[in-house]
Amino acid sequence: MSLFDFFLKSEVDPRDLKDKTLKVNKTRCPQNHRCPSVRACPVGALTQDKYEAPKIDLKKCVKCGKCLRVCPTGAISFQ
Ligand code: SF4
Repeated sequence: MSLFDFFLKSEVDPRDLKDKTLKVNKTRCPQNHRCPSVRACPVGALTQDKYEAPKIDLKKCVKCGKCLRVCPTGAISFQ
């Protein structure tokens, strides 16, 4: 099992997040790589143009928390 798969195995309980919104902190994102969180999202809620910070489609997001676990800089969080 890869480290990537290991991190994806643990999920956040969506009931703990019902009043929170997923946000991308652009100042924490170096915007110099392909975002691993885009690949981690099981519903395609994250997209990325070139190496820019990812964008979130909040209508698609199911608040699983998988994207948070693979972002190396902690640029994605629930607030
Ligand atoms: S919380 Fe889950 S569904 Fe929402 S953007 Fe992150 S990986 Fe996708």
